[in-house]
Amino acid sequence: MIKCPRCGFHNQNNDKYCIYCGFKLISNLDNASDKTVIKQKNMVISILLAIFLPGISYFYIEQWYSGILFLLLIPLIFISYAVIAAFYSTTYNISSEIGVYLVVLTWFVLYIFQIYKVIKLTKLINQGIIRF
Ligand SMILES: [Zn+2]
Repeated sequence: MIKCPRCGFHNQNNDKYCIYCGFKLISNLDNASDKTVIKQKNMVISILLAIFLPGISYFYIEQWYSGILFLLLIPLIFISYAVIAAFYSTTYNISSEIGVYLVVLTWFVLYIFQIYKVIKLTKLINQGIIRF
């Protein structure tokens, strides 16, 4: 993939001109490899952050939307827990334990998912597949 320096369009590697704007890509090829330095993210830091500071790890690998989304999910889980707990205790007179299990389970699934996701994204970033 060659990113057009003028318009930012992603062209195929063998394209001589940008498909979108016509900018000549070949002349930029030689210094393109020097200019577009592939940002490296430390895998150990990514994993450690994912384990100990879930959500923050997304900010380390500069996946801002995912990070914000993840952090927003935490209060959402607890709000839904409160709703479920209130619903069950008033409607069925069942203890709110089921709500606790649901929260723990949801949190656990999310927690494992974000570790997996952060590792995968860090790999893609270090390979230069995801660029900023
Ligand atoms: Zn272009």
